[in-house]
Amino acid sequence: TDRRARRQDVVVIGGGQAGLALGYHLRRAQRDTDFTYTLLDDQPGPGGAWRHGWDSLRLFSPAEWSSLPGWPLPRAQAERYPDGGAPEYPTRDDVLSYLSAFEARYELPVERPVAVTAVREGADGRLAVDTDRGAIEARAVISATGSWARPFVPEIPGREAFEGAQLHSAHYRTPAPFAGRRVLVIGGGNSGAQIAAELSKSARVTWVTLEPPRFLPEEVDGRVLFDRATARYAAIKAGEDPGRPYTLADIVQVAPVREARAAGRLSDDRRPPRAFTPRGVVWPDGSEESVDAVIWCTGFRPALDHLRPLGVIDDDGRVAVKGTRSVRDPRLWLVGYGSWVGFAAATLIGVGRSAKQTATEVAAFVGETG
Ligand code: FAD
Repeated sequence: TDRRARRQDVVVIGGGQAGLALGYHLRRAQRDTDFTYTLLDDQPGPGGAWRHGWDSLRLFSPAEWSSLPGWPLPRAQAERYPDGGAPEYPTRDDVLSYLSAFEARYELPVERPVAVTAVREGADGRLAVDTDRGAIEARAVISATGSWARPFVPEIPGREAFEGAQLHSAHYRTPAPFAGRRVLVIGGGNSGAQIAAELSKSARVTWVTLEPPRFLPEEVDGRVLFDRATARYAAIKAGEDPGRPYTLADIVQVAPVREARAAGRLSDDRRPPRAFTPRGVVWPDGSEESVDAVIWCTGFRPALDHLRPLGVIDDDGRVAVKGTRSVRDPRLWLVGYGSWVGFAAATLIGVGRSAKQTATEVAAFVGETG
């Protein structure tokens, strides 16, 4: 190990919303415990995955249900729209400017662009964090790298031979390149619904889903979803019958989705093709159809490759955790990836609780070992 390697007590990997929520709570924990920390992020500017959202992206939760700890989004929006008129459902750019202002407001020490290539055993019982700017030795590492870097595409025979365009929702920006074209939008979640709805105005869209998609009633948005999910979570904890849930995978009928359905532009009776051909697809009934492009709205997997050297990644691509702490390596915590690391942990409003608990544990740990 390089004896000149930089040292930090705590290294947070990732400067998206999860990283910022952690930064906020670590900074508070420094009032009681003396330790140093830094956040490493591989993007050129603030915002994490929101930097890559499509231009028309609308949150499914109103502003007050889309806030990090300490400084709510509505207050940030009031600064952004001084004459009023902030949209109830924030836009991608609202979230981007919020996260950017949040980072500045709390003077969070984010270093970027710095890509972490590996976390491995270091000297003196520390973890070595290898980056493209050199190594840092840390007492504790919190991984908050999200999932944007690992778009998931299902295996369908012949996919490699398909000669049309293929794009994952991770890289979709505007409908313009698809005008007048025959496009398959594959995926029955919110991304698929929103992208299919938008494209259906200018392209010939076929929306493909594994099962008939589940639309939430029109009056149900992210706020109701979160409240119901919270009640259900409490019921399960109390050993009561939680009832049939609305889930975060159900489709919120944001205005463009509602309009496309009402206009009959969003039929939902297509199941996935059996195979691809160079020109198109073979449907389950054996009929063939030509298509120009496929947009995969088939989700993401946690971006954990940097943790491979620690041998903590299970066959399911996750790390076994108690709360947010790795069971196998007690110097490692994971925040923000999804419900497996905490209730609603992959949402703006949900990650705060998980970040607070984690910062408390991490501060206690480095306080003890320091
Ligand atoms: P990210 O935002 O991905 O941040 C992780 C950061 O770490 C990124 O900057 C990444 O580049 C960086 N990184 C990754 N690997 C490394 C590495 N090895 N070294 C250094 N840096 C690295 N949530 C809501 O609450 N409300 C909504 O309405 C909502 N709508 C959504 C709509 C869409 C289409 C999507 C995709 C998500 C939506 N979400 C919503 C969910 C959620 O808010 C996001 O997925 C969120 O961006 C996850 O935050 P994160 O900080 O965990 O990860």
